[in-house]
Amino acid sequence: MQGNRWYESWNRAGLDETSQNPANPLQLNISPIRNWRALEVFLYLWWQDLPVNPLYDKGLERIGCYLCPAMLESEYEELKTIQPESAERWTAFLESWAAKKGYPDAFSSWGLWRWRALPPKMREICRQKGVEINDDYTLKTGPARPAGAMVDKRKGKTMKPAMEKQAGSGLDVQAVRKDFPILGDIIYLDNAATSFSPEPVVQAMVEFEHTYRANVGRGVHRFTRIASQRYWHAHEKVAGFIGAQSGITVFTKNTTEAINMVAHGLSWKAGDRVVTTILEHHSNLLPWRNLKKQGVEVDSIGIRPDYSLDLPALENAITPSTRLVAVTHASNVIGVVTPVAEIARICHDHGILLLVDGAQSVPHMPVDISRIGCDFFAFSGHKMLGPTGTGVLWMREPDLEPFILGGGMVEAVTESGYTAAEGYQKYEAGTPNIAGGIGLGAAVDYLTGLGMENIRSHEERLTTRLINGLRQVGGVHVYAPEKPVPRIGVVSFTVDGFHPHEVAQHLDESAEILVRSGHHCCQPLVEELGLPDGTVRASLGLYNTEDEVDMLVATLEELTR
Ligand code: PLP
Repeated sequence: MQGNRWYESWNRAGLDETSQNPANPLQLNISPIRNWRALEVFLYLWWQDLPVNPLYDKGLERIGCYLCPAMLESEYEELKTIQPESAERWTAFLESWAAKKGYPDAFSSWGLWRWRALPPKMREICRQKGVEINDDYTLKTGPARPAGAMVDKRKGKTMKPAMEKQAGSGLDVQAVRKDFPILGDIIYLDNAATSFSPEPVVQAMVEFEHTYRANVGRGVHRFTRIASQRYWHAHEKVAGFIGAQSGITVFTKNTTEAINMVAHGLSWKAGDRVVTTILEHHSNLLPWRNLKKQGVEVDSIGIRPDYSLDLPALENAITPSTRLVAVTHASNVIGVVTPVAEIARICHDHGILLLVDGAQSVPHMPVDISRIGCDFFAFSGHKMLGPTGTGVLWMREPDLEPFILGGGMVEAVTESGYTAAEGYQKYEAGTPNIAGGIGLGAAVDYLTGLGMENIRSHEERLTTRLINGLRQVGGVHVYAPEKPVPRIGVVSFTVDGFHPHEVAQHLDESAEILVRSGHHCCQPLVEELGLPDGTVRASLGLYNTEDEVDMLVATLEELTR
C-alpha cells in the first residue's frame, strides 16, 4: 500500500490503482489515494484527527525509507542537524566509495551518487561544472585513489592519505592491487585462511586449459610434454623459493595433507612420543593424536605470558622416546613467529626429527629451509597467492612410505611388488592437480618478482599500525605481544559485549571488511587464552593498505560507541 499520487510528479501522473514493482515482480503496489491532491490529504488528516509524523516538521519529506536515494539534497542537509553522526558516517562512506571507484568529488558533494544514469538536470550541471560523463549518462571514473578525505571520527580530523609506497618499502601496493580484480569494493582481511590469486596465476591456469591441457607423466605427444615440463618446472620454482637445494618437494592438496603424509609415512612403535605445541592448527595436532592407536603419545608445549613459545619447556619435554617435534613457523591466531632454527638445533642435538608447518610463514616472509635445518616442511599454495587445492611437502630424505599408491608413482610393477619412482613422483600417485601446480609456480614467480623482503616490511608496517590502532579502541582486547617481536600480520582481538561472529558480521555489513571469527582451527590455544567463543582475526596480505587498516579501526570504534 503506498501513498503515491498523480499530482506529485510527471512520472506519477499515469499511476494505476495497482502496479507491479518492476524491480521485484513479487511486489504488488496499491495506490488508493492516487487521485488526491495535497489539500485533500491534509483535510483528511485534519478531519480524522490523525497524528502527523513529526519528521515532516523537521523538513523530511521521504520518511518511508531513511537515506532513500530519492531524497532531496535539502533533506540531506536537514539530516546533518537532525542526525549529525549518521550523516557524517554516510558522507565518509560516500567519499571512500568515490575514492575506491575513482569517481570525482562531485559524486558525494553534489549528491550525484543518487543516480546511476544522471537525469537531464544533473547532466546540465555536470556540463557547466566540467564534470565528465559517459555516453550512457553515468559518471566517468578515473583511477582509484586512497580515501584521503575520509573522516577520522576518533579525532574529528581528516586522515592522512596513505603513502603506500613508502621509503624503504619497495612495494607499489596500488600497482599490485590492479592484479587482483577480486579486491573490488571489499576490504579483505582473511588472508590467513586463503589469499587471492593475481591475474598472472589465473592466466597460467587458463593457458594450461586453453592451449596444452594434458596429463603429465610418460607420454610423448606434444601436449603431454609441455604439461609435464611445466608441472616439473613448477616444482623447481617452489623448491627454489624456500631454499630447498636438496631433498624432495612434493605437491599436495594443502598443508593438512602434507602433514598427514608424514604422520602416516613414518613407521611408529608403541611408546614413541611426538612433541607439539599449543600454537598448532588442528592440522598439526590431530594427525599426531591419531597415532595413539599405535601407542604413540603426544606432548604439547605452552606459551609464556608474552605469547612466545616456551622453548625451555620444549627442550624439557624431549625424552629418549621422542621421535619427532612438530611445530608451526607462525601462529595462525596470534601471529607470533617461532624460533624454528633454534628448535631444529635442539632436535638434532637429540637426534629427533623436526616438522615445521610453514602455512603462515611462507606467504609473508623470506623462508630458507636450508638455514632452518628441519626434516619436513609443509605449507599451503592457496595461502601464498596460488590456486586452491595446492600445498607442498618438502622432505630432506625420501624415507616416508607413500600415503597413496597407484599410477604415476612407480618405475616398474612386478607380479609381487613395485619399484617406486624417484623424486616427487613417488608421493604424487594418480593424476595430480596439474593446473593448480602450474598456477602455484606462477604464484612463486609473482612473489619473487615483488620480493619477499618488500612484502615482509610492508606487512610489518601494516601490522604495527593495526595493533596500535586496535589498542586505542576502548572495549577492544588485542592478543598480541606488547613488544614488537617477530610476527606476521595475523591479529586476534575481541570486543566487549559482542560475540566474535557478531563483530565479523557487523564489519562485513557495515564496511565490507571481511575478517574471520571463531576458533581458527586452533581450539586448544583460544581456550588457553580464556576465550571459549574464540576471537575476531584480521589477517593481512601484501595487497592490503593503510587505509584499509584505518577503516577497520574506525569501524570498530563506531561499533563500540
Ligand atoms: N597450519 C596452519 C598454521 C594454518 O594456518 C592452516 C590453515 O589455516 C593449516 C595448517 C591448514 O592449511 P590447509 O587448510 O591449507 O591444509
